[in-house]
Amino acid sequence: AVDVKARVVDSVCPYCGVGCALSWVVDTQGNRILEARGRDGAANEGRLCVKGRYGFDYATHAHRLTKPLVRRENAYPKGALSWDDNGPRRPGGPVDPETVLPHFREASWEEALERVGQGLGGIRDTHGGDALAGFGSAKGSNEEAYLFQKLVRAGFGTNNVDHCTRLCHASSVAALLEGIGSGGVTNIVRDIERADVALITGCNPTENHPVAATFMKDAAANGTELLVVNTRRPRIADYAAMYLEIRPGTDVAFYNAMMHVIINEGLTDDAFIAARTENVEAIRENVQEYSPEAVAGLVGVDAERITEAARRFGRANAAMLFWGMGISQHTHGTDNARCLIALAMITGNTGRPGTGLHPLRGQNNVQGASDAGLIPMMYPDYQKVSDPDAQARFEALWGRTLSPEPGRTVTEITDGALDGAIRGMYILGENPFVSDPDVAKVRKALGKLEFLVVQDIFLTETAEFADVILPGSAFAEKTGTVTNTDRRVQVGRQALQPPGEARQDWQIICDIGERIGYPMRYPDVSAVFDEFASATGSYAGLSHAVLGDRGRWYPCPDPEHSEGEPIVFKETFPRGRALLVPARQSPPVEATDAAYPLVLNTGRVLEHWHTGTMTRRSAALHDISPEGFVEIHPDDAAAYGVADGGWVEVTSRRGQIRIRARLRDRVARGSVFIPMHFREACANVLTHPAVDPFGKIPAFKYCAVRVDPV
Ligand code: SF4
Repeated sequence: AVDVKARVVDSVCPYCGVGCALSWVVDTQGNRILEARGRDGAANEGRLCVKGRYGFDYATHAHRLTKPLVRRENAYPKGALSWDDNGPRRPGGPVDPETVLPHFREASWEEALERVGQGLGGIRDTHGGDALAGFGSAKGSNEEAYLFQKLVRAGFGTNNVDHCTRLCHASSVAALLEGIGSGGVTNIVRDIERADVALITGCNPTENHPVAATFMKDAAANGTELLVVNTRRPRIADYAAMYLEIRPGTDVAFYNAMMHVIINEGLTDDAFIAARTENVEAIRENVQEYSPEAVAGLVGVDAERITEAARRFGRANAAMLFWGMGISQHTHGTDNARCLIALAMITGNTGRPGTGLHPLRGQNNVQGASDAGLIPMMYPDYQKVSDPDAQARFEALWGRTLSPEPGRTVTEITDGALDGAIRGMYILGENPFVSDPDVAKVRKALGKLEFLVVQDIFLTETAEFADVILPGSAFAEKTGTVTNTDRRVQVGRQALQPPGEARQDWQIICDIGERIGYPMRYPDVSAVFDEFASATGSYAGLSHAVLGDRGRWYPCPDPEHSEGEPIVFKETFPRGRALLVPARQSPPVEATDAAYPLVLNTGRVLEHWHTGTMTRRSAALHDISPEGFVEIHPDDAAAYGVADGGWVEVTSRRGQIRIRARLRDRVARGSVFIPMHFREACANVLTHPAVDPFGKIPAFKYCAVRVDPV
């Protein structure tokens, strides 16, 4: 039963890229959410997963930051408070403010912002803008992302601005921009209902895009053949016509073999190839050495099954491709995505219902944050900073001379902090000390910064390194737009007041602009959206008023009469013809050997979200999934003396964690899986910092480890 003083606020789920529309029932007296209900949104039709339905109480958790904090003179050395060279010092659970707060003191907004202005502005004025960098957030709105990158570019004077897309789909976007000239999806998730075949690879939608997975299951029940390819059996495989378990890091060989069959058996769409692609001869030539028989041993799948999968895909009238981080998070992630693009193009599977390319976006606004320019080499809408015309347009809009030099990526900013090139940082809503690869390296980098300001809703592991901590707002406390994996732009509406002295994030960004001599003034957040939309072609015509309660897909050339485009590039691609780029199988970043015989794969679980700052403070989600684990095949467990539920040490060349073992045969022999959410058993203590040369994305899906019982 709902309190009579409750009201209902329509918004969007703050977690994954599916972008489920929901309504929050709010206790207006208690300033808290009582209940979440699914709304009839374009992406969810009233459905919600466990996170959307029960994961909202973090917003009113006692750990919320409510006042600005500044580091005390005699504080514990940065980064040594909760971690040392042996890993985390404290027991499990999210950061307990009681252990950290004594090293900070409360400050007024006036003092905190003054310090930020002096800290960041001083470094800029002494060492130049390129000594500064900013990590924005895919958890924030489009308006916040737009303002953040504007502040860094025009106010700091550098393009050193990035966010977690670098850890997510940067390689997919690199391949898509190269191949078709656009990084967004071509067809929405729900289009799977019109596909004859859907290839679902390198993703685990049942846990990571749960409501999308329900539509995939529905499609399978109605005749769509699912071809599921993975290194660890995802639950969606239970509904598949074929499940193909490939060995880690062999995606290029596998997809080249599929194309080998399709080309050599005449299953290509030659009219499409002739009209809409270029460079197909390079693909034909490249795949000849990748026959199913030639790659079967490497890939770990019989040649007959590779051939059958290729024939099913090649013979379909309409085939669709979905992929996730199992494709992108490799040092050859761009090559993996190039193969998928080529597979779609040689079979003519784009531009029609039930076809297309769909890299499943992770965060609720990773698509929008990238669209808004929160990436170092591009202004909003993927206009290159190195393009003089684009530079001139944004200089006119923002009133400052801008740098034509592409900035540093997330991992390059970490390297810059280590070597002293980056001296100051502004981190909004990201937690690199848990989310980035090789956290021992990240710890050293953050510890070396001369000045760090962190803006967040909780005292994150990263905030422990800060000189100033600014209390921002939770998703339910603000109004702003987010863009889901389908390119659907939706308005999230404010349901709660921020606690204590916490402020709206977009206003804090503007406040910092004032303090560093770059004022950004807007009457309200919808005016920020209007400026952003005016600077892009993709969002042209959209506004908060036009988006209303249901939102629109972009592009939306006629917002008065349509919901936008669920399918794009029906006639041509932004670059004209699709460029087909051949890829060659390459060795992993770190091969297994006698000392480190197992491949580590990292990822997520249904109940938690990334570094756990929100979901580990949601009572229901924490109760269901309170601790980390390493999943190991029973045969490997027997070989290494590991018991189900027993404690083990997992060790890589970069560090060691202690964690509980789960024996499961869904993980392949020779591999282990560890979720990324749990700081006390932090998977990124182990991961390798090497990156893909094009997307600069780290290889979270592959490094060598060993497992020892304790
Ligand atoms: Fe939220 Fe994603 Fe679950 Fe939908 S599927 S309720 S957007 S976490």
